[in-house]
Amino acid sequence: MGARTNSISEVLYEEVAAVDTTEIIKLKATAQEEWKPIIEEWKPIIVWRNVILFTALHIGAFIGLYQLIFQASFMTIIWTIICQVLSELSVTAGAHRLWAHRSYKARTPLKIFLMLTNCMALQNDIIEWARDHRCHHKWTDTDADPHNIERGFFFAHMGWLMTKKHPKLKEMGGKLDLTDLTSDPVLAFQRRHYLPLIGFFCFLFPALVAVYGWNESFFVAWYTACIFRYCSSLHVTWLINSAAHTFGYRPYDQNISPAENPWTSFTAIGEGGHNFHHTFPYDYRTSEMPLFLNFTRGFIDVCAKLGLAYDMKVVSKESAIEDRIENEEEELYELWTVLQINILDYLSANDQLETAEMESDEPEPSQTAMKPITYNFMDYCF
Ligand SMILES: [Zn+2]
Ligand SMILES: [Zn+2]
Repeated sequence: MGARTNSISEVLYEEVAAVDTTEIIKLKATAQEEWKPIIEEWKPIIVWRNVILFTALHIGAFIGLYQLIFQASFMTIIWTIICQVLSELSVTAGAHRLWAHRSYKARTPLKIFLMLTNCMALQNDIIEWARDHRCHHKWTDTDADPHNIERGFFFAHMGWLMTKKHPKLKEMGGKLDLTDLTSDPVLAFQRRHYLPLIGFFCFLFPALVAVYGWNESFFVAWYTACIFRYCSSLHVTWLINSAAHTFGYRPYDQNISPAENPWTSFTAIGEGGHNFHHTFPYDYRTSEMPLFLNFTRGFIDVCAKLGLAYDMKVVSKESAIEDRIENEEEELYELWTVLQINILDYLSANDQLETAEMESDEPEPSQTAMKPITYNFMDYCF
């Protein structure tokens, strides 16, 4: 991959989560060869504490959903939505685009805002989140990817949080340089006071605002703005690891699992342009989708206007288009090859059929029928 950016060398230098293709090939090869006996011996270890916590959370979330529909006041519904968006923003604009990818820079007030709302989101502290995410980009779809989609949809969605880390992930993750994160005082503060911060911002503050703001019952406010909102914001993030690595189209690089998915882009306020994002991880927009499918980009742009965000990195339009054309050419070639194979299959099946008809008095066409065309046309329509 050549230089594709506007501010070339600087961006490439800062491309902290750039994909490590050589290592991915090596990891995939070793997974099949020398790692095989170790992997066969190694069984996922379930972390029962997390299984119980997630089960309890989902039961609580259902109670919250019921209350949101039948009992909560209009203001509480609006407030729950606001808390949901704030939780998501702290992950998309904060932990993801700012800290994990360093795709733009932020002034301290914005960093503090994103760090505090990130405590509301409760997805591990930002240093840990960014480390896991860098592993995900560097060694996508291998054992060193924390939510490796090759291990199944459920594992990539939330199963990875209910099992112990794979030894290969521990080994490779330990090699990452995280000094840019650990030396950030805002992140160091979050890590130092993580428990009281999440206790207050995730499980108390959203309910207290509703109780003291418009006299909502604490019971209703807690189940809706805290528990239901927390659970739904988790699923929205998880869908990027599961659905956006499974469903959608791949216009920039068809050889990777991440796909462009407008639905997850809408729910995750702009993170569903995942094929673009894995191809150009340093681009602060994370996709070429329009603004209504990329609320986070709008938020960062507004922050930039206010002087709170700066140095946003973008891939040059020509490079993105170039990649799309290159990819389309590859796809067309692949499509042509698949069609050729199928035509040949069809012809040879027909030949066999004719020969069988000639050789036998009672031909059985159903047994000699041509193979169904395996090529899925819809794959190429998106
Ligand atoms: Zn991904
Ligand atoms: Zn990313």
